[in-house]
Amino acid sequence: MASEITQRQRAEANCHQCGMVCQPNEYHPYAACVLYGATRDGAAVRANLNAIGQHARQEALRGASDLIKLMPMLTAHNVAAVLDHLAREGVK
Ligand SMILES: [Zn+2]
Repeated sequence: MASEITQRQRAEANCHQCGMVCQPNEYHPYAACVLYGATRDGAAVRANLNAIGQHARQEALRGASDLIKLMPMLTAHNVAAVLDHLAREGVK
């Protein structure tokens, strides 16, 4: 039936800024609105956001590996503080 709304369609919503169809939990910063406004290509916007997210995760891992190099200097108490810090930064 044409008027039937699927579960997926119900979960999606158009960005009120640019109109791109987004998932409710999808990261959609203003730059994505600008890119979508220029290209009207949601797949390209999503690909760019994924590339940025991947870069950010790599940077976080690089930061974590720098901290690990300092580990020999750390006391047990400081290791717990560093792990807390990494958890707050979202490094898993
Ligand atoms: Zn938008």
